[in-house]
Order: sequence, then structure tokens, then C-alpha cells
Amino acid sequence: MKSFLIVLACVLSQTLAVAQVDTTQRVAPNRKNSPEQQQKPYVILISADGFRYDYADKYQAKNLLALREQGVQAESMVPAFPTKTFPNHYSIVTGLYPAHHGLVNNYFYDPQRKESYSMRERSKVEDGRWYGGTPLWVLAEQQQMLSASFFWVGSEAPIQGILPTYHYQYSEVMPMEKRIQTVVDWLNLPEERRPHLITFYLPEVDHAGHRYGPDAPETKQAVQELDTHMKQLTDAVATTGLPVNFIFVSDHGMLHIDTENTLPLPAAIDTAKFMVSGGGMVVELHAKNKKAIRSTYRQLKEEATKYQVYRKKNMPRHLRYGKKDDRYGRIGDILLLSDAPKVFHFSSRKPSPGTHGYDACQVKEMHATFYAWGPAFRKGVKVPTFENVEVYPLIAKLLGLTFDHKIDGKGKLLKEVL
Ligand SMILES: [Zn+2]
Repeated sequence: MKSFLIVLACVLSQTLAVAQVDTTQRVAPNRKNSPEQQQKPYVILISADGFRYDYADKYQAKNLLALREQGVQAESMVPAFPTKTFPNHYSIVTGLYPAHHGLVNNYFYDPQRKESYSMRERSKVEDGRWYGGTPLWVLAEQQQMLSASFFWVGSEAPIQGILPTYHYQYSEVMPMEKRIQTVVDWLNLPEERRPHLITFYLPEVDHAGHRYGPDAPETKQAVQELDTHMKQLTDAVATTGLPVNFIFVSDHGMLHIDTENTLPLPAAIDTAKFMVSGGGMVVELHAKNKKAIRSTYRQLKEEATKYQVYRKKNMPRHLRYGKKDDRYGRIGDILLLSDAPKVFHFSSRKPSPGTHGYDACQVKEMHATFYAWGPAFRKGVKVPTFENVEVYPLIAKLLGLTFDHKIDGKGKLLKEVL
């Protein structure tokens, strides 16, 4: 009985440890805006996860529709492959494709480190060595401009040794009113300590899209609730009287998938010879012995239906996910890409009806949203579809931040929107 109680106590304390989230603000000490940076405008970069390019119109998000009328809207924004949350949020703030910044998926295996990254493991998320490129907040802090993050992929790790001046550990428990109030409090700080770049992340629309599908009433409701929060945020920020530019983006879209006939792990794959990572629309095989690649690839090619098989060296160029682009050596030797709306699924539980990850050039439903408004933006402008790596040079320009490292964004958006 006693040992049973000890076990029970352990289980309970573990459960509590999981449920307990640190919601305190983390502040890097002794940082100040330089006098030059104090003269700069402000940018709030908002991401609504999984907010498909057509959601605002489809679900009549009236506040967002009005806000984009006062500024710029893109036909859509193209996410990088794979169209997943972590790689794309990090592409937006680095201007680099996933294979160039290293965060190639939400979960992936690194053969050199002999370990896996997982978006759900705090020790990985907070380990700056996983993240390449120079995120916008690092660029800002390097130039003595303060930044703040109400969540963004990468913002909890010291990257090049630097965290945003103000940040939080990711959690979904804090009420929206409190988050919005925090943004206003930041903007009301004395000029020396006031952040000029604020990132703000909202997961709810993605959750609804996965659980109920993009066409469900629950997803419509999530879009409309988010729309109300956008009005609360912009109204609250307006009370500061500061020149704030808003950029509202998403990381990817959402597609209703085939949940009945999912794809199993193909029989040709010998897990003694390959590390299998991924699932859903992209399965990656890392060969333990490179000699196994050719024969397995051939066999897979023969038996593949409803999915495409590639060797890393012959991945379609436009995906930027092949051997030439693989700067961190994290892409598999063989890749299986399911044809929409099919998914690979290896558990006995039925998959959720909505998901994302497909090639955005083939599946328009993967496209993301871009709206921007504020004093720096042209008004009533509609621009054609562009890639999300273009957001980086845009924000750098808005904040007057300089950089000489190479990025994938070409900066072609600047003339059209500013
Ligand atoms: Zn998602």
C-alpha cells in the first residue's frame, strides 16, 4: 500500500509539473534603446497560426477586412516547404528557407548531432544551437534596438547568444486581455526601455482547423474570435498615440484531408537500415548505411501509389529542400511526399480532419495571409502573391535596421507596399 501511495504521489506531482506553466515575463537586464533607435517607428508582427489566405473573406472577419482596407493586402503569401508551423514562423523572421535556417520541420532528426528536435520539448526549443540565421529581434538587439516577444518560434532560445529583451515561455493559459494589456504596457514604457519590435502569436485558429477541418463552424467561430481580439489589440495600441505599424501574417493554410484511407509506412522500408522521421505529408528516411539508399529507393519507386518518392539529390528544385539547400544536413536521404489530400499515418488513432504540410505550389489551400497597415504603409493597395521570406527585408526597412548577411528574400515587396 505504501509503495502504491508513493507511486501515486509521483504520478500526481508529474502531472502537476506538466500542468504548471511559467507565465512570468522574462526580462534581459541592462538593455536600452540607443538615442538613434528611440526615434524609430514601431512594428507589431502578429501571426495567426493556420489562418488560410481566404479565411478573412470566407468567414467575414469584419475587423481584419476593415484594417487591411486601410493598408496593404496580398492576394496570398506562399509558405516554404514543408508548410508547417515551426519552419515557416522561423522563415518569416529570418528571411531564409527552412533548409537554409536549419529548422526543417516541427520534428526532425539531425544525423550529426545524433538527436532529434521536437517543438514539444522545452530543452530543444530553448537550445539556440538548433537555430540558424539572424532573427529580426537578434538583428534589432545587435543594433541597440529593444524587442519583445509574446511568443514566436525561436524567441525562447538565445540565438547568437541573444534573447529578446522581453519574452515569455510558450503557454496557452494566459487570457487574451492580459496579453493585449502587456503589449500596451510595453509601449508605455519610457523611451529607453520601450520595445520597437513586438511579435505576437495566436494559435487558436490552427487548433480549430486541425480538430474540425477548415470548413467547420468551429473554425469559423475561431476566426471570428480572433477578429474580435484584433480589434481589441489595435484599439488598445491606438491609446498610446505611437506610430505603430501592424503586420498580420500566418504561417500556412489548412486542407481537409482523407482521414479514411491513410497511407501506412511502406513495406519496402527496413527500419533496421533507416531512421524514419516525420509523417503526415512528408516522411524522411535517414540511412544508417548509405549503401542501403539505392535499393530501397528503387523498391519504393516501384510500389509508390498516392505518394512521390525522391532522393535528396533529386528533390524538385522549387521546394528548396534538396541536397544543394541542405546547409545543416538535416534532410533525409529519401523523402516520401504524399499526394493531397492523402497523409501518412502510423498510429491506430484516426487523424484529425484538417492539416497542412503540402507543397504550396501545388495546393493553394496551403497559402497563408499577409495584411499590413500603419503610418508606413500605402493605403488601399493589393499586391500579388509573394513568398514569406520577403517579410524580413520589409521589417528591417521599416525599423531602419541594416544587415549584410545573405537571405532568400529579395526585397522586391518594399517598393510596392511602402
Ligand atoms: Zn497546424
